[in-house]
Amino acid sequence: MRIGFGFDVHRFARGRPLILCGVEIPYKLGLLGHSDADVATHALIDALLGAAGLGDIGEHFPDTDERFKGVSSLFLLEETLNLLGERGFFLVNADLTIVCERPKLKPYKESMRQKLAKTLGCPPERVNIKAKTTEGLGFTGRGEGIAAYAVVLITNAT
Ligand code: MG
Repeated sequence: MRIGFGFDVHRFARGRPLILCGVEIPYKLGLLGHSDADVATHALIDALLGAAGLGDIGEHFPDTDERFKGVSSLFLLEETLNLLGERGFFLVNADLTIVCERPKLKPYKESMRQKLAKTLGCPPERVNIKAKTTEGLGFTGRGEGIAAYAVVLITNAT
């Protein structure tokens, strides 16, 4: 058994879609980034890479690489799973916390969970999504961006 932790932040920008865990969420602002800027999936990828001792997302999917421009982060997640699979690791469970004041994410949590579970190839019960605010404090409270945290457990036990 191995544990991994991931963290990411992206700033809001106009004229971009807001995509979290592969789900497009209707909002006046999206997130800025080289890929689709799916901050929650990025935190999850870093947690998986960390658990497997494989460094971080920037090493595997650099934002200077044209191949990853505008790409769905679910594709990067699939690539990450392949890296773990090659080493005999598979996911036990994942727990994500997404931090933003707006939009309210509650109506989308279940579809985010389903989307991630499908990409991870695991039952939805093994994926948990939590949405939090910071009660108006800090950059998330001021609506400048979204932060995400992820913890995963992986195993190579058969
Ligand atoms: Mg990122």
